[in-house]
Amino acid sequence: MTTPILKNLYTHRTATTERPCFVCNQFTKAVLTTDNGLDWFYTCTSHLNDHGFATVVPEPEKPPPIPPKSTKKKEPTKKEKNADKTTKDEKDTKDSTETKDEKDEKNEDEKNKDEKKKDEKSKDKKETNKEQLPPPITSPPKPKQYVLHRDIFYLRESNLNKKRREQKIQSLLEQLPSVPKTSLQ
Ligand SMILES: [Zn+2]
Repeated sequence: MTTPILKNLYTHRTATTERPCFVCNQFTKAVLTTDNGLDWFYTCTSHLNDHGFATVVPEPEKPPPIPPKSTKKKEPTKKEKNADKTTKDEKDTKDSTETKDEKDEKNEDEKNKDEKKKDEKSKDKKETNKEQLPPPITSPPKPKQYVLHRDIFYLRESNLNKKRREQKIQSLLEQLPSVPKTSLQ
C-alpha cells in the first residue's frame, strides 16, 4: 500500500461553521485544504495573510484566447483588395473593360458563394447550440492557493504522520484476536 505524499499546496475554502485557527485558536471560517483532501485545517485570516505562515500562489498567466476567424473580418479585406484592383485597372489600363466586367461577375459569384456558406455555417451553429447545453456564463472565482511556510508545513506533515501511525495502530489492534472474556470469568 502506497501512502500518498502530502503536497505543500493548499486551497483556501470557506467553511459553514467557525472553528479555532490551527495556530492561534482564533475562531475562523477559513479552511486550507489540499487537493486530494489528505490534509485540511482551519486558519484565521490574519494568519492567512502572514507571510511567515503561508504565501499566496500567483495565478499562472493564461495566454490570450485566440479569437476564431470570423467571416465578417474577411469580407472587408476582400472588398478592399477589389477596390485596389479596380483603381489600379482604371489607372493602368482603361481599354480592358470586358475583362473588368468578367472580374466583377466573378467577384459577385464569389460573394454569393460566401453568403451561402455563411448561411450554412450559421444554421449549423444554431443546430449545435440546440443540441448542446449552453456554456456557463459566469464561472465561480477560482479559490486562492497557498504554499505553507516550511515550518508550518513540517507541523502539518508530522501531524498527518501521527494520524497515520495512530490509524495503523488502531487497525493492527482491530486485527488482533479479541481476548476471550468468558474464560477469565
Ligand atoms: Zn490564527
